[in-house]
Amino acid sequence: MAKTHQRDYYEVLGVTRTASVDDIKAAYRKCALKWHPDRHPQDKAEAEVKFRESTEAYSVLSDSQKRQIYDTYGHSGLSGAGGGVDFSGTIFQDFHDIFGDFFGFEDLFSGARRGGRSRRSQRGSDLRYDMTLTFEEAATGVNTKIKIPRQEFCGACNGTGAKAGTGVVACQTCGGRGQLAYQQGFFTITRTCPACQGAGQIIKERCTECRGQGRVEKERTIDLRIPPGVDTGTRLRVQGEGEPGPNGGPGGDLYVVLEVKEHPFFERRGADLYCTIPISIAQAALGAELQVPGLAGDEKLKIPEGTESGAVFRVRGKGLADPHGGGKGDLYYHVRVLTPTKLTREQRKLIEQLGTSLKVENKPAERGSSLFDKVKDIFG
Ligand SMILES: [Zn+2]
Ligand SMILES: [Zn+2]
Repeated sequence: MAKTHQRDYYEVLGVTRTASVDDIKAAYRKCALKWHPDRHPQDKAEAEVKFRESTEAYSVLSDSQKRQIYDTYGHSGLSGAGGGVDFSGTIFQDFHDIFGDFFGFEDLFSGARRGGRSRRSQRGSDLRYDMTLTFEEAATGVNTKIKIPRQEFCGACNGTGAKAGTGVVACQTCGGRGQLAYQQGFFTITRTCPACQGAGQIIKERCTECRGQGRVEKERTIDLRIPPGVDTGTRLRVQGEGEPGPNGGPGGDLYVVLEVKEHPFFERRGADLYCTIPISIAQAALGAELQVPGLAGDEKLKIPEGTESGAVFRVRGKGLADPHGGGKGDLYYHVRVLTPTKLTREQRKLIEQLGTSLKVENKPAERGSSLFDKVKDIFG
């Protein structure tokens, strides 16, 4: 079977073959921070590969036994035991500051975490909260309070799940370690103890408040600041406001996912706004000064003499804010000349008169001129 080329683990971490455990740890920290997929929104897939690669290298080189096998037999020495390298051990605890704020890293290392890690002091789950905003709220930003139901520690049992005074006993199946180990070739495969689900302890009598869960559902009010310019799909992270981690672990994060309602006449493209304004034939031919709606009150729109239907006028900087701090978008008014219908007898006569004195050659117009060639700046 063809094997894909695997880079040398020392090369991946950029350390020499005699590097100390501390050197390896420091080198991995540098790599993991550099290739953290959250830092590479543009090329996430590539970053994930590098991130995995350096994590794999670290998981081998930080373990003296695996490192010795690797030094002697290379990659093939490690891949023989079925399932390749596992990420068991203390890596997620040692580098919690790196993994801790990475949303979805469980997917990236799917399966890797399950077996190797004790459930004591685990990070809490992330929570998602969906929120709908009006167009105006999204435009100006808003400070609001949200109420979220979440799991909190049960006060009656201090989160242990055991009825007061009864305590817990170590799980007999795993001897309190929370995991079971199997020897297979060079490897020790660990998996979560099924008897205690990795807790390492078993409750003798359950707490009646939380029915032994150690947690109860409570509603919590959180202050939320929504910056101006957010759009449908914007995700705001509130650090640590997810569910608390079991056994004193750090809390997960709360993700507020926004949906912004559409405006009756402003159409949004990124930070730019578009609005169609109907004008009469007379206004188009003679010019006019109009009061038109803007985001913050009315704007003056000067229609020059001889404006064509479809002309677009731009008011710079009157669009939406860029929530990432990139200035403001523009506001575009798209002018549409309304052809009169349902004429009175009087109006019909006037237009007939106009028609005899105003002749247009009805031959095909030249191709070209897109909408954007018609954009005219109102100011400057
Ligand atoms: Zn309880
Ligand atoms: Zn157990």
